[in-house]
Parts: sequence; structure tokens; C-alpha cells
Amino acid sequence: MQTHSPLQTIQHPLFAKHKLEVKIKRDDLIHPIISGNKWRKLKYNLSFAKEQGFKGALSFGGSYSNHIHALAFACYQQQLPCRGIIRGESQYAANCTLSQAQSWGMELTFVDRQTYRLRHDQAYLQELQALYPDYYIIPEGGSNELALPGVGEVIMELNEQTDFDTLMAPVGSGGTLAGLIAADNNQHQLLGVAVLKQQDYLIQEVKQLLGSNAGQHHHWQILNTFHRGGYARFSEDDCQRILAFNRQTGITFEPVYSGKMLLALLDLIEQEYFPPGHKIILLHTGGLQGLGGLSERGLIKGKDWSVPAFKADT
Ligand SMILES: *Cc1c(COP(=O)(O)O)cnc(C)c1O
Repeated sequence: MQTHSPLQTIQHPLFAKHKLEVKIKRDDLIHPIISGNKWRKLKYNLSFAKEQGFKGALSFGGSYSNHIHALAFACYQQQLPCRGIIRGESQYAANCTLSQAQSWGMELTFVDRQTYRLRHDQAYLQELQALYPDYYIIPEGGSNELALPGVGEVIMELNEQTDFDTLMAPVGSGGTLAGLIAADNNQHQLLGVAVLKQQDYLIQEVKQLLGSNAGQHHHWQILNTFHRGGYARFSEDDCQRILAFNRQTGITFEPVYSGKMLLALLDLIEQEYFPPGHKIILLHTGGLQGLGGLSERGLIKGKDWSVPAFKADT
């Protein structure tokens, strides 16, 4: 079904002025619903679950989680039952993300913040496994060992599509960056843009996902000054800069992940971080469904952004 996601050159006066070549890997176009890195991370997780004869999949997320949304649709497509353990109160079930997830058959369990914090705790996971026997448990964000080879296919595709110096990607839980690092094997410079504050924690997460090979990879770093106040935080000015870029290029960046990567790129270019002639790739990790939730919560003005419409039977 899917081959390579498109690679597109972005024309922009700032890039021309600094003699930079900037291209974008459009993982947001992989699938109308399961777009971006969540599709990549789930690919081998779900094939493993099916091969091993699991009767369902279970995972964790916040009430507007891109991962939960993607998992719900992917399981619906593969006719695998699924359950989401959701941080927060049951009233969130009616929000745009979770109402779609339920329309595809996902069942939800709402837990309070203390319980949600146990999502990596072995005893808690065993308890959940006892409640949902034969369900394959996928960690929050889909970031586990089986996520890495799926994300790594981005590098294989890019190697066939172009040559480049630096690849940039937003970092949430670190699974995507870890997959890129493992597959790239020191060929290029990999720049992760942390979208939340805990950067030391993120470095540890990435190293842990890389496992015993972590020490062999040197060409990566996580930039920690572009989170703009923390996860899902951004200013009106940030929004206006992203929207202006969206209008100029016809590509939709959202302000939680891809937009923070974009603003980091623009700031780095202003600081002359990249030498002339440098070839940069941005990984558009998708997540545009999240615009619906931002608009629903009044965090963005929906009319300014192309908020994807929900069609129940796509
Ligand atoms: C989850 C997500 C990320 C972060 O990926 P991690 O593997 O968690 O670091 C980036 N972009 C989008 C759109 C996401 O949904």
C-alpha cells in the first residue's frame, strides 16, 4: 500500500538568503488518519501482535493523544480490538480525538494522574495484563524497541531520495529520534528538537531505546531551548510565525511538534548555525489531528488553521 512518503523542496527567502537547501519529508501524507511517526512506530508493533496471536492491543495516552488516535484507527483497519488507558476524567470521552477513537472501536479506561504515572511500572503493567489477558501492551507514544525499525525506514527512504547533511525532527518521548539514529548509523547529523522541558530525561530515553548500541552513535543531539515553555505551550507570536510559514509554503505545521521544529530551524538559521550550502531535511511527523483538540480547547483559533474534518467512515 505505502511506498516512500514524498520529499519536497521548500522555497523560502530566508533559505535562499543563507544559501541553504531545505527539504521536507512529508510523513504527514502517509495516510489521511494514521499519519506521521505514529504510523511508523506502530507498523512492526501491530504486525508482531498479530503474528504472536494477541487478541488485542492496549496503550496509554493523554486525552488528545496522537498516538491513541493512530492506534485506534490502525487496530480498526487490522480488526484488532484495542483499549486506551487515558489520563484524565471520563468527560474527555466526548472530545474530538477520543470520540473518533471510540468510533473505530477503541474502548477507553480513564485513570487519574497518580495512576497514569504508573504506566511504566512493572507491577501495574502486570495488573493490566491480568485484566486484559492476551492484549499486547504498547508503551505511551508507541515508543519501544519495535518502533525503531519502522522509524528507521525514513532513513532508508531518504537515502534513496536525496543526499543531505542534517535531518531535524521534533522529540516528544524519544522513540522517533532513536529509530532515526539507529538506522542512520552516523551518516548524517541528526538534530532532535525537544518539544517539552525535560531534556536530560529525553537523552536517557533515547539511549535506553538504542540499548547496547547507544555508545556507537555520535552524530545526534537534542536541542533543548526551543520548547517555548513546555509541552503544548506556545505564544501567539509563535502561532503567527508558523501560520505565516504555512501560508507561504502551503504545508501545514501545527504548534505542538512540527511547528516547534520549524521555529527552531528559523531561529538557528538567523543565528547562522548552518554553513552556506548545507542541505537540511525536516521530518514532518504528522499529528495534524491534534489541531482539532487545540481548537476545541481554545488554544488556537480554528479558523486560522486547516483543522482536519472528522469523517466517521474513512
Ligand atoms: C508523538 C509525536 C512526536 C514525538 O515523537 P516521539 O517518538 O514521541 O519523540 C512528534 N511529532 C508528532 C506529530 C507526534 O505525534
